Formats: sequence, C-alpha cells, structure tokens
Amino acid sequence: ALQCGIVGLPNVGKSTLFNCLSNAKAQSANFPFCTIEPNVGVITVPDERLVKLEELVKPQRVVPTTVEIVDIAGLVKGASKGEGLGNKFLANIRETDAIIHVLRCFDDDNVTHVDGSIDPVRDKEIIDLELQFKDLETVEARLQKTEKAAKASKDQDAKKLVEVLYRYKEAFENGKSARTVELTEHEQKVTKDLYLLTNKPVMYVCNVDESSVVDGNQHVEAVREAVKDENAEILIIAAKTESEIAELETFEERQEFLEDMGLKESGVSKLIRSAYKLLNLQTYFTAGVKEVRAWTFHKGFCAPQAAGVIHTDFEKGFIRAEVIKYDTFVELGSELACKEAGKMSVEGKEYVVQDGDIMHFRFNV
Ligand code: GDP
Repeated sequence: ALQCGIVGLPNVGKSTLFNCLSNAKAQSANFPFCTIEPNVGVITVPDERLVKLEELVKPQRVVPTTVEIVDIAGLVKGASKGEGLGNKFLANIRETDAIIHVLRCFDDDNVTHVDGSIDPVRDKEIIDLELQFKDLETVEARLQKTEKAAKASKDQDAKKLVEVLYRYKEAFENGKSARTVELTEHEQKVTKDLYLLTNKPVMYVCNVDESSVVDGNQHVEAVREAVKDENAEILIIAAKTESEIAELETFEERQEFLEDMGLKESGVSKLIRSAYKLLNLQTYFTAGVKEVRAWTFHKGFCAPQAAGVIHTDFEKGFIRAEVIKYDTFVELGSELACKEAGKMSVEGKEYVVQDGDIMHFRFNV
C-alpha cells in the first residue's frame, strides 16, 4: 500500500495530527480509518464522485480507496549519526512514498520547544540536514562501489550514474536536497534504485493556532519564503483545534465549529487529498450494481497495469477495457445509456488510464 510518513521535530504536533486523522472516521462515515500498528493508520480518500456514482448506480456497497499514514516520531538533531533512535526512524522514512513535514508555527509557552524558540525554518533545516546527511552516506557508499568500475568500462549507464552521484554529493554538501537536482529521463533511470530520502515528494504542514488558520501568521510566511523554490505544497492546519472538533458528537456540530473558524472543510480532509496528489496517484472507478469502487493507480498507467491493481490475473489475461468518462456517465445516468449513445469506448493495451475513468476490464482467465 502507498504510504505517507509524518516527520518533524518533537513537540511540533505530529501525534496530534495523526490522532486527528485517526479520529477523522468520527467526522464522516466516508472516512473510515483504522490503526494497524500504533503509528500506522489507513485512511480513505474522500471523493465526491463516489457519492454521485452511488446515487446513480445504487449498488449494494461502496468501497473508497485508501492511503496509509505513518507517524514517524523521534527524528531529532543528530539522528543520522545514531542519536536517539535516529537510524531506525530514518529506515522508516525510507519505506514511505511521500513525506508530510510538520512545522510548528504556533506560540505556546506551555509546550516546550526542543530548541528553545519557535522557528519553523530552522526546524525544517534541522530535519533536512539529517536526511541529507544520510543521503550523502548512501551516495558516497555507492560511489565507492561503482566509480572505479565505471571508469574502466564502456557502460554508459554506469558512467552516467557516477556523474549524477557527484551532482548529488555536491547538493548535499551545500545543504540542498536531492529533489532540487534536476534529472533527465536517462539519469532518472540509472539512479532509480538509490531511494534517497530527500528525493521523496514532500508537503509542508504548518501547524498553527486556531486564530491563524485562515490567514496564517508570520511563522507561516517565513516557511513560505524559505520553500518558495521547492515547488512544494504548504498546508495550514490547526491540529489541536481539529482534534477538539473531532470529539464533537454530531456532524452538524463539527461543521458549525469549522465554519465559525472560517473554514469550509477540515484541514485533515484537505491533507488527505493533498497527500494523494503528492503521491502522484489517480483514481478510476468500477461501477457495478454489486459494488461501486474507487481504485488507486499511478498517473501514467496503461490499461493492463491499472487492471492489475484489481487482480494480477486481470493484468496477465487483459484483452480490452471498456471506458466511460465520469462526466459522461453522470450526464447520461447509466452504463446502458452511455453504451446506447456510443459514449463507451473500447480500448487496448496502450490506453493510458485517466483520472475518473469508469472501467470495465475484459480478460482471459
Ligand atoms: P509531536 O511530538 O510532534 O508528536 O507533538 P504532539 O502532537 O505530541 O504535540 C506536542 C504538544 O503540543 C501537545 O501538548 C499538544 O497538545 C500541543 N499542540 C499540538 N498542536 C498544537 C497547536 O496547534 N497549538 C497549541 N497551542 N498546542 C499544540
């Protein structure tokens, strides 16, 4: 399953945020969440299209798609050198597909800050440095293993790899992350198995007090300025307030509370949608009377690969796919109507599945 890791210094609000996510199930029936390990939760991705499809198809059940969220606590200064349980946490990060970096942007004298003052830009740099340091180790180890052989051989891939490793090394030595190093397609291919920590897509969550949730504050502005070249999304969330909202009994109460804060949607729900986007994921649907279901696939998947998300047999025995666009389905109201109107296309192995496609796979068993 695809996984997002929550990272950040101690006391910035990671577990509060994680708990909000785990309480999100209380906010709406469309948010089932279960904790599979103390720090791992599975959360469904809210999708209005499923609601619409349910209305039209009236299936026996509706199954949304999910993303896993891991709370990676314990990342501190010196982690890359084994400080605290540092190395274990870094190993946890390596397994994730994307990073949610929580930054403390709230002032509260009752909550101590590990470095004595509120400075989210410094905090971000502390975490980045630890991750870059670890990546530098990875790159140096790989250079040691491959450089000599690459020089001696004619293997263009090996030569390319060494060249990129040096570019990475330089970036880390200058306090930059791997994601700032731009690679050509060939370079991406030869470095695919490095799995660098600082190459993972990242999103910043500025954790603020209730009063700053709409307009932000000077800490949020500082973060915005610091990451402006990273092309990364910044979300403002009041984790503590959201955790209080999650405890209210009814949906109406919770909605009222949110609206009083000036919000239409909970930060948690925004976070889930952003995480999905960050992971470069898209959704296709299957819409039968038994089950209407959302399936997650990587942007760019062809029809057989997308079919493989349902079952490997679907991929192996793939014959063709019948595709209806979501908007057309909603407009005409049913599969039959789409078929009769000639709006169902028959696609082969090369078809690149699009977000929102309603798919029907034909396959041999
Ligand atoms: P973690 O170490 O990053 O997991 O941090 P926690 O989630 O345990 O939060 C540390 C402390 O900060 C707890 O006492 C929280 O109640 C408090 N806290 C978290 N978010 C906020 C916030 O937005 N505002 C305020 N005032 N306190 C917060």
